Amino acid sequence: MENYCDNLLDYVNHQGTANEAIGLMEHLHVCQRCRQNIDLYRESLELMQQGFTIRDVPGSLKKEILDFVFEK
Ligand SMILES: [Zn+2]
Repeated sequence: MENYCDNLLDYVNHQGTANEAIGLMEHLHVCQRCRQNIDLYRESLELMQQGFTIRDVPGSLKKEILDFVFEK
């Protein structure tokens, strides 16, 4: 099963089973693209938890980040 790339954020948000979570960890060892996406996603979450206010970010940059994370 190679659908981790497409459903990365679902797995990150623990919407998968335990077996899928283990599979994701193994997938991350071999898939650089997912590693980068997860790193960026995690950094965004940490910034928000630290009181970082998204309104201080220019809209274009915010869109750029979201586009990258969700690859739209
Ligand atoms: Zn991947």
